[in-house]
Amino acid sequence: MSLLTDSETYLFSTYNRYPIVLVKGDGTRVWDLDGKEYLDFVAGIAVCNLGHCHPAIVEAITTQAQNLLHVSNLYHNKPQIELARLLVESSFADKVFFCNSGAEANEGAIKLARKYMWDAFGKERYEIIAAEHSFHGRTLAALTATGQDKMKKGFSPLMPGFVHVPFNSIEAIEQAVTDKTGAILIEPIQGEGGVNCPSDRYLSDVRRFCDENHLLLIFDEVQVGMGRTGMLFAHEHYGVVPDIMTLAKALAGGLPIGAILAREGVARSFTPGTHASTFGGNPLVAAAGIAAVRAITEPTLLEHCRFMGSYFMEQLRNLQRKHRFIKEIRGKGLLIGMELDRPGADIVTVCLEKGILINCIQEKVLRFVPPLTIEKGDIARLIETLDEIFSTRLQGISRG
Ligand SMILES: *Cc1c(COP(=O)(O)O)cnc(C)c1O
Repeated sequence: MSLLTDSETYLFSTYNRYPIVLVKGDGTRVWDLDGKEYLDFVAGIAVCNLGHCHPAIVEAITTQAQNLLHVSNLYHNKPQIELARLLVESSFADKVFFCNSGAEANEGAIKLARKYMWDAFGKERYEIIAAEHSFHGRTLAALTATGQDKMKKGFSPLMPGFVHVPFNSIEAIEQAVTDKTGAILIEPIQGEGGVNCPSDRYLSDVRRFCDENHLLLIFDEVQVGMGRTGMLFAHEHYGVVPDIMTLAKALAGGLPIGAILAREGVARSFTPGTHASTFGGNPLVAAAGIAAVRAITEPTLLEHCRFMGSYFMEQLRNLQRKHRFIKEIRGKGLLIGMELDRPGADIVTVCLEKGILINCIQEKVLRFVPPLTIEKGDIARLIETLDEIFSTRLQGISRG
């Protein structure tokens, strides 16, 4: 208990945390201070795609830690070069820049888009079109790009040069574009915004629109990349490639990392001195990244993710037929949202008591993002638990 008191005493109150202290993780399980076990359908919010303490990640970190932890980007380091090569070989991109988080990757992508447009067309084409309900991070430009007003309140003046349009509407983009527009920034599937999937044609329509109007297309794959949706990158489902892509969350198997990937002609705008990061691509984190990319790109893991994703979806659909207050189930691979007709916070709390971690976004959407290594038995246990809660306890849970 005193740890929880200390937490309140010493830490900023930026998070509404659940009253448990987690001390150990292994695969799809984590344990708290009292030794209580939890089945983890949050996975650090899509960070622990390989499960907790994956042996290949632990081994890569351990070995690297005995040799070299950090050097400045004034010098080359082997793991950073190797990780960049792996990412280039498995994506549309020619070049990679490493940083430390999703927000930082998006900040860099925004700077890169501005710089590229400045170089190509002059300084007037700085505006970026982003989507409503999007999430791009909490730093100032990423926050401005984010399409959720509740997160922006009290932080004005925000960055100039951003406009927002409804997700999934090419007409809205056509109407929003001006001679100031330089780029379109979207998540191929919106994560924090409620697990919102695009229509089959949306991303290819956006790509075509960008090509016709000399705009850059930036995909934020911070949450949906690295195997989460059953492909290495979510945009692969739609047969569309961006000009710039940002990654973070699962990229280094649980260590803090971010990355900007781009085609050569775009990356070239970041000339020496234009952008930098002290820790970006540091040997320790990059070594973990190499192990993570290798493990995620094993064809069997992505196949497992797709298989478990459709099994999971099918089980949730069965549940939906039983319980009328489940409005919609949506997602891809192992990024799944279940929208209720009422707030979901109490359900999260009951699940926690019963030893299962899930989370709730946009008030009414339960989000499931387990490790990609999840097995049928784990999914079945969650479904049984939800069924029981929905059948017996939901009467007490208020309608929103
Ligand atoms: C989590 C997230 C971010 C922000 O990442 P941080 O590492 O928390 O800065 C940005 N974009 C998307 C889509 C995310 O899910």
